[in-house]
Amino acid sequence: MPTERLLGEPVAEAIREDVTSRVRDLQRRGVTPTLGTVLMSDAAADERFMDLKHAACDDAGIATRDERLAPDAPATDLYRTVEDLADDDAVDAVFVQAPLPEHVDTTAVRRRVDPQKDVDCFHPENLGRLVAGDPRFVPATPAAVRRLLADYGVELDGQDVVVVGRSAVIGKPLANLLLQDAEGGNATVTVCHSHTADLAAATRRADVVVTACGVPELLDGSMLAPGAVVVDVSANRRETEDGTVDVVGDVEYESARETAAAITPVPGGVGPVTLAALLDNVTLAAERRADG
Ligand code: NAP
Repeated sequence: MPTERLLGEPVAEAIREDVTSRVRDLQRRGVTPTLGTVLMSDAAADERFMDLKHAACDDAGIATRDERLAPDAPATDLYRTVEDLADDDAVDAVFVQAPLPEHVDTTAVRRRVDPQKDVDCFHPENLGRLVAGDPRFVPATPAAVRRLLADYGVELDGQDVVVVGRSAVIGKPLANLLLQDAEGGNATVTVCHSHTADLAAATRRADVVVTACGVPELLDGSMLAPGAVVVDVSANRRETEDGTVDVVGDVEYESARETAAAITPVPGGVGPVTLAALLDNVTLAAERRADG
């Protein structure tokens, strides 16, 4: 049987349609949902992703504040920017692009985000609530993975899921979501990271493998169980021999297709759904504030 391609765009389109109608409802009440974004990087890829977020907001009728700091700016400048967005009554939602430069204390930044506006679950209180099974927001990328699997009818209840990556923005919240005793959860979850002794042994046992480690083509088809479902979160930019840049996932797509039953392409898999999930969270933040 041919491997199913789990395309993100149809899933993203359904989320955007819902968002657009909810934003119209808010506008009728005199509310324009507003997202403040913070980028402390001058890497071209980061700037492009941030531009995409602003364009997607614009298309959905969501206003934006675009705060950009030089990567070598003092950490106190970043703290002040995040505090100003927390205090600004016109801003409903805040997104801080991670990772932050090394001289910045990321924990100190996390604590400064207003939890009510914290659409990417950056504040420890919101991460804690998610772990406790009572999320205020589900961060965009984990939400996208869960929604994509649900929309393609991938049942997780009782399944072995391996998540490769344990960051606070993707791996940890995703693993916790998938093991919740709730719809879209009840999986048996293993989390792997750079200290995992035998990654292949773990992934070969999995019904579903989700990779979010940012290592180009770390996994190949030989590391998957026959019939596995693969969700590749990463979009790694890699320079080719002729000097051009291509974008690949953490999974070697062609060899994975020999073994897997279904796989997300890179690009075109998780990425568009994540963007739509962010709009969904911004709208939710604005609805809550409008409802008091
Ligand atoms: P991160 O903070 O760098 O975390 C990477 C994780 O991968 C870490 O837990 C690390 O382990 C683990 N790892 C690294 N090398 C490994 C190896 N050889 N074997 C097993 N695990 C390994 O990255 P992130 O912010 O979570 O992002 C992960 C990826 O998702 C990145 O490629 C990013 O660009 C991408 N991303 C995609 C979307 C989307 O919507 N598609 C959105 C955001 C980010 P340690 O903890 O031991 O270091």
